[in-house]
Amino acid sequence: MFQGKRSDAEQKNRTLPVPIADIDSVVLSHAHIDHSGRLPYLVAEGYSKTIWATAATRDLSAVMLADSAHIQEKDAEFLAKHKKDFIQPLYAMRHAVRTMELMVAVPYNKPFDVVPGVRCSYVDAGHILGSASVVVDCVEGDVSKRLVFSGDIGRSGLAIIRDPVPPAGADEIIMESTYGDRDHESVDGARARLAEVVRQTAARGGRVLIPAFAVGRTQELVYNLHSLVRESAIPSIPIFVDSPLAVDTTTVFEMHPETFDESEDMVRKVKDLFEFPLVHYTRDVEESKALAHMSGPMIIIAASGMAEAGRILHHLAQGASDPRNTILIVGFQAEHTLGRRIVEKAPILKIFGDEIPLRAHVEVINGYSAHADRTELRSWLDAVKVTSPKLSSVHLVHGEPRAQDELQTTLIAKGYSVTCPNPHTRIAF
Ligand SMILES: [Zn+2]
Ligand SMILES: [Zn+2]
Repeated sequence: MFQGKRSDAEQKNRTLPVPIADIDSVVLSHAHIDHSGRLPYLVAEGYSKTIWATAATRDLSAVMLADSAHIQEKDAEFLAKHKKDFIQPLYAMRHAVRTMELMVAVPYNKPFDVVPGVRCSYVDAGHILGSASVVVDCVEGDVSKRLVFSGDIGRSGLAIIRDPVPPAGADEIIMESTYGDRDHESVDGARARLAEVVRQTAARGGRVLIPAFAVGRTQELVYNLHSLVRESAIPSIPIFVDSPLAVDTTTVFEMHPETFDESEDMVRKVKDLFEFPLVHYTRDVEESKALAHMSGPMIIIAASGMAEAGRILHHLAQGASDPRNTILIVGFQAEHTLGRRIVEKAPILKIFGDEIPLRAHVEVINGYSAHADRTELRSWLDAVKVTSPKLSSVHLVHGEPRAQDELQTTLIAKGYSVTCPNPHTRIAF
């Protein structure tokens, strides 16, 4: 699903790359909405065959597609009411529900036939819960070839989930390139910074306000805070997860311990990773509003991740002017978002039409990315190459032109044959 400026995104989202009748099967890599978000549209337009996914991806999709349908219905309602503009939502809740009926869960490393002659299997991509790279084995006559679709590639050492597993024996690769032009702060460094920010803010008697995506990032933060509490690395202050979507997503995490990384101490030793005495999940609005009247240091994690909507706005409206507080940014902030204004330490924030002076501390932790950086992308590819003597080409997708170009240049210098195909390009292999 394309996001961004409404008119551009609208047009792109309503244009399917091929006629629905030509689609035999859908193989989903993971539940992030840029990958899964148009499936209900496909279904609304008449698609009724199988959609494959890992079990955790299927369950995460149930939560996320319903949320996506809900947002679209609300947006359309809002525009109709305020701008007298009529937009048709891309799909409705019933299409999201119908999508779930078509979605079939398969385990990692267990081949499944999508159509005669095309057999797929999922390999751990280490990106978010349930994420996978897809190995596609195609047989025609007595020729057999293997296409590897990387999906979004994660990072080694990410909390909760296992590390990426580079697939073997590729003849051709379609690979993501999101961060092909930069490196991230280390995963361990991010956790240490989190502890430091919490300690300093608690010492001032302030609140740590964290705008975070409800899916993935929030659970990662809760998991990190849990481990820091166990090590007594942060003081015992209450932690509020103020987001209904985050509550639902946490339930999905709890349902899928089979995807957890057994090499992590806490995964092996602790039964309830996301429940501990200091953490409170608030689902209803009244509970959320009550937080405003509480005193003393605390941590509040709420969506949206770029502070564009959602309950975090109420906490920022109330807390941004208090110099004891910290606004902690743990994700990418796009241009023209409130989150970006905060990162840039704009003196005045506009929230709900009010001008709020920004006096709280602002801290940015870059190490929380779920995407491999350029060094990790290169090592993933090198690891695939070791077992792929017949590797022909690597096709870069899922990246801004600058990131793709830079990654292409470095990979070509290392001896790879690399293209950056435009949408709708057909590649024979
Ligand atoms: Zn993703
Ligand atoms: Zn993605």
